Amino acid sequence: MDLLNTLVDKGLRRETPTRGEALAVLATSDDDLLDVVAAAGKVRRHWFGRRVKLNYLVNLKSGLCPEDCSYCSQRLGSKADILKYTWLKPDEASKAAAAGLAGGAKRVCLVASGRGPTDRDVDRVSDTIKAIKEQNEGVEVCACLGLLSDGQAERLREAGADAYNHNLNTSESTYGDITTTHTYADRVDTVQKAHAAGLSACSGLIAGMGESDEDLVDVVFALRELDPDSVPVNFLIPMEGTPLAKDWHLTPQRCLRILAMVRFVCPDVEVRIAGGREVHLRTMQPLALHLANSIFLGDYLTSEGQAGRADLEMIADAGFEVEGTDRVTLPEHRAGGGCGSHEGDGCGTHEGAGCGTHEGGGVCGAAPAGAGSCAGTDGETVRRADEPRTDLVAVRRRGAGTDLAPNA
Ligand code: SF4
Repeated sequence: MDLLNTLVDKGLRRETPTRGEALAVLATSDDDLLDVVAAAGKVRRHWFGRRVKLNYLVNLKSGLCPEDCSYCSQRLGSKADILKYTWLKPDEASKAAAAGLAGGAKRVCLVASGRGPTDRDVDRVSDTIKAIKEQNEGVEVCACLGLLSDGQAERLREAGADAYNHNLNTSESTYGDITTTHTYADRVDTVQKAHAAGLSACSGLIAGMGESDEDLVDVVFALRELDPDSVPVNFLIPMEGTPLAKDWHLTPQRCLRILAMVRFVCPDVEVRIAGGREVHLRTMQPLALHLANSIFLGDYLTSEGQAGRADLEMIADAGFEVEGTDRVTLPEHRAGGGCGSHEGDGCGTHEGAGCGTHEGGGVCGAAPAGAGSCAGTDGETVRRADEPRTDLVAVRRRGAGTDLAPNA
């Protein structure tokens, strides 16, 4: 396909595709899907080999946010049955981080719900960063605390933070539809503050909120313009108790096309599969490793991921390798500036994960005849790829903020 040859050539040269080319990737058919993955995989391997960077989320403060991000289980008025707790102490956060690092992660992402940190919060997180760095040599730490005020990025940098995450989430033109308590411009401003302070900027998106292909291309081009070192791609987990609980728009194929498009537009950037990996990519997760070079290990902020061991086995089975602390993540031309490898974590949006109602399940009864459903070996109807998978969503009940061991 000429389109794919062109995109590979551009990706290897770090040249920006046209909007039309990016849109065409999203419009490819299922017949062409493996060709799309193979082409974007060439670009991924050129810049990142077969390495997969593992990141580990520590939710420092969960729920009770005054903001109204409609995708988020921690939002104002959320009815999601998530864990709610205030700031973890530095030693508690460090203990949670250690579990992820022992599981193979090289970056810890410290996330707190809220509009943005007070100066006292920055002190608190600075103490936490120092505690983690003292106890774990070579660890990268990314903070994700919301909108930053003047001087806060510099203070986090001085405390030892390597990166700061703040996602754009969606296109500028639709931003007001998902959040009213802050603006797209506020988010851009915080990413720029992180950059200016010498922190590695991490900024990404959430797909699956009812956006158009044009919106997706808009936000990815806006990210390219902002030039973060890493781009987390979240796939919306429609959580019960949030306004987007019924927004099940994604299929595994759609997720792969989105990741391929992001790779073509941001070829030399750490593309991370973030929230929603297990829920939306499902058995196609290994194919997604050909596109993204980074994932989260274990659980998300408010939902549970698949077992950390399953992540590691998937990486090995797919022919990839976990990136060690002795390797710099980013290509040399990027690693020199900012923090090099220490870019963003992933949370990006402090969104949650998991809806907590594991109901769902049986939706298949509603499948129209001939739509692709069929009887499984146990006589139960097999779900179509586009059916809601509420059965795969589980609220986090272990790790930070609980007495139970974390998943790592
Ligand atoms: S994404 Fe962040 S700012 Fe928005 S509601 Fe969730 S925790 Fe609050």
